[in-house]
Amino acid sequence: MDKRKSSRSSSSRNALSNYIVGKTLGVGGFGKVKLATHILTGLKVAVKILDRQLINDSAAAKVKREINIMRLLVHPHVVRLYEIKETESHIYVVMEYMKCGELFDYITQKGRIHEDEARHFFQQIISGVEHCHRCKIVHRDLKPENLLLDAKLNVKIADFGLGNIMCDGHFLKTSCGTPNYAAPEVISERLYAGPEVDVWSCGVILYAILCGRLPFDDDNFPALYRRIKNGNYPIPGHLSSGANDLISKILVTDPVSRISIPEIRQHSWFNVQLPNYISLNPYTTASEISEIEKTKVDENVLKEMAKNGFDIRVVIESLYNNAQNEATVSYYMLLHSRCKPDMRHQSNDLIQPSADDYTDNHEVYLRPCSSGEGNWALGFKSQSTPHNTMLEVLRTFHSLNVQWKRIGPFNMKCIWLSPGCAYLGARLNGCVSGTQPGPNQICSSSTAAGISLRFRDTVKFEIQLYRASGELYVLDIQRLSGPPFLFLEICGAFLALST
Ligand code: ADP
Ligand code: MG
Repeated sequence: MDKRKSSRSSSSRNALSNYIVGKTLGVGGFGKVKLATHILTGLKVAVKILDRQLINDSAAAKVKREINIMRLLVHPHVVRLYEIKETESHIYVVMEYMKCGELFDYITQKGRIHEDEARHFFQQIISGVEHCHRCKIVHRDLKPENLLLDAKLNVKIADFGLGNIMCDGHFLKTSCGTPNYAAPEVISERLYAGPEVDVWSCGVILYAILCGRLPFDDDNFPALYRRIKNGNYPIPGHLSSGANDLISKILVTDPVSRISIPEIRQHSWFNVQLPNYISLNPYTTASEISEIEKTKVDENVLKEMAKNGFDIRVVIESLYNNAQNEATVSYYMLLHSRCKPDMRHQSNDLIQPSADDYTDNHEVYLRPCSSGEGNWALGFKSQSTPHNTMLEVLRTFHSLNVQWKRIGPFNMKCIWLSPGCAYLGARLNGCVSGTQPGPNQICSSSTAAGISLRFRDTVKFEIQLYRASGELYVLDIQRLSGPPFLFLEICGAFLALST
């Protein structure tokens, strides 16, 4: 038997003793990516297995950079990194599993996709890229192969192998990336600052998903480079004027004149059907997240961990110290996995607001309360009385068609059905004719598709008002079940109404 192979498999058994490793998901530059199951939580993860023998010193530095970059990023449109294991022969990077694979395969299967779907992908990509830039990270290798789709076809940015930490005032000199998606200044090996090269790649991606072909393409590299530097690309007749205008502002060869992400956000084509959670643009940097993670621990996850034999004191201490060990990895995976739909509390004893007097003396903010997607909380600081604050919250819920059940005077369990999804659900059930039903008007058809949609498109959350200090009260809103994106959507709608 091959000696190297047997030592490799025993070392991987030790390093990955908490996982059952399964099939290969993809092959990257330094090794394979495998599907695995985390034994404690049952959660599926992707493990990138990097063979140290294939990694020379400069590549090892690249790999470490990738790992450090991914650790900093917590965003609904960036693939989450759970943990890193190292042995003498391999490095294992455990990350969020993206069930539907590469956006590249999705678009090659579908040919060109409808403009609304393309916009939906593009909005998610821009929000993820914007977050990377805010954390001073330029990806530099954005392409559909590095954009992965989760089970619900949400895009998340992966593969920071070539990314780099932006240093203020310094320019990145390394020329890298895939030629077809690379900006003219990158292939000219000119000094470049960073974010605008990702903007260019996003423009090429947008063109590719709208047109089913690349804007700049040639089998011959020098010819391809010429095309990119000239910035001339064919404009297909089916492209809408809005999409065409946005692409023409992105694929500008002069990086200084190229549209920026804040300007893309202002563009009318980008803003059609923009989800609230993206439009509100939660401002959270990596250091803020780790501060927040230290201050808030999910009690239910702790209880579940205690049942599994964990010493709770060790878990809390590890979380506070930002340690990477079995306790914290299991904690964050359990947090992720706790989003099973539950309709039990949708009962009849819902209370309605009795008066509508309120003051507007408050401040609202959106923040991730623990880690990863699905654990966002809406904070609402108020200087008015707890009673008036509660009344205002209920008024807002009333106008959003949120139903609620009182648990205590300042504590409610709530349920919300997304209006957009109700419309879609009804359409899929074939019982709508052109008009959009009201938010809580669920189609009565009970086909399997209808039922699963109803579960998927409903979010349950809990609100609790508590005294922060002196006369300052904080309202926390936390998701109990349902899709994280829908929860962000309700938070966004709530923010928009109450500010
Ligand atoms: P490389 O840096 O060499 O390009 P990637 O990180 O892009 O490697 O991974 C290679 C391939 O493995 C991806 O293109 C994708 O098909 C698959 N893959 C990577 N990460 C995941 C993941 N988190 N979930 C599912 N598939 C993945
Ligand atoms: Mg890749």
